[in-house]
Amino acid sequence: MAQPIGRHFLQIPGPTNVPEQVLRAMSAPTIDHRGPEFARLTLDILDAIKPVFGTAGPVVSYPSSGTGAWEAALVNTLSSGDRVLAFETGHFATLWRELAERLGLTVDFVPGDWRHGADPATLAERLAADREHVIKAVCVVHNETSTGVTSRIADIRRAMDDAGHPALLLVDTISSLGSIDYRHDEWGVDVTIACSQKGLMLPPGLGFNALSGKALQAVETASLPRSYWDWRPILEANRRGFFPSTPATNLLYGLREALHMLADEGLADVFVRHLRHAEATRAAVRAWGLDVLCLDEREHSAALTAVVVPEGHDADKVREVILDRFNMSLGAGLGRLAGTVFRIGHLGHFNDVSLAGTLAGVQLGLELAGVPVRAGGIDAALRVLARRADA
Ligand code: PLP
Repeated sequence: MAQPIGRHFLQIPGPTNVPEQVLRAMSAPTIDHRGPEFARLTLDILDAIKPVFGTAGPVVSYPSSGTGAWEAALVNTLSSGDRVLAFETGHFATLWRELAERLGLTVDFVPGDWRHGADPATLAERLAADREHVIKAVCVVHNETSTGVTSRIADIRRAMDDAGHPALLLVDTISSLGSIDYRHDEWGVDVTIACSQKGLMLPPGLGFNALSGKALQAVETASLPRSYWDWRPILEANRRGFFPSTPATNLLYGLREALHMLADEGLADVFVRHLRHAEATRAAVRAWGLDVLCLDEREHSAALTAVVVPEGHDADKVREVILDRFNMSLGAGLGRLAGTVFRIGHLGHFNDVSLAGTLAGVQLGLELAGVPVRAGGIDAALRVLARRADA
């Protein structure tokens, strides 16, 4: 097969395009992870990452994928047989549930249609019915990467507060952190779960848990077995700028650079940039005459858009044509959405022209795959970008 010309468009909703500055930072020689230079690196990063979570509290990091960070959140706060409440918002919420059950937790899984976020009213009902406070944690995926739906965490918190329920709130921000407004402290989240390969613009390999005071108390009584994931030895070593086991040194170089980039742009501007790109993408999809999977105007993801292909057409065929002809990767439909949706990632290191190129590739691919689309999608997107060019 001939080598594709031009750069690859990695428009899956993570891993995302890694900026050259970050790649360059990661290419520095690996240093002694028990020496003073490394300690300075750790202390800088652990400080600089707090605003991204919207927290003044500690952030624990692991060499891991997001799944590891999910497991860490559960094993540090819960005990075997504990009941947790979770919402079936899509494929990733379902995987998290399965992981929790394998750990010996009992999961009350609120059914969902994979087109809406976690419903605060249902949460209020469930918590009101739980007078004995059997539910120990509420687990929510903030941005469901399989559907492009963002749950309203502030409203979830309000439902918990109104019910006066003491459950912990655990939130997966794996595809929202650094792309969508998020406030660990203000929203009273106990454990925020994140990883490196999406809004943080790094390759895969780092997992994170941001912790509340209540989470730090829970770790003292939680009895699920844990060793590698135990927050306490990590927090202890971090105080001096170290880790209990060998850290992913070069990823940490990249993280330092990525955090500088986010701070330089300003987090508020980063969020507005993602909102504009999402709005422009939806304008294109609707102008083509296709449906966006998310059904609630308040819950559209700023990080990705899941597009429904009309019946009788195969979303995987569209992706295949686009990869083959235009050297661009789009996200596949996952789980029960396989073949019926494709996902356009517009998060991370991404600008207006990258979006215009992405949408042009999608439009051409839809036409080549024989999906009937109306003209004008790209113009509709450009109009949104032009109207909000100064936003
Ligand atoms: N949660 C969400 C929302 C995700 O998007 C993903 C992966 O894309 C995961 C969890 C699992 O993370 P990982 O594949 O890095 O283990």
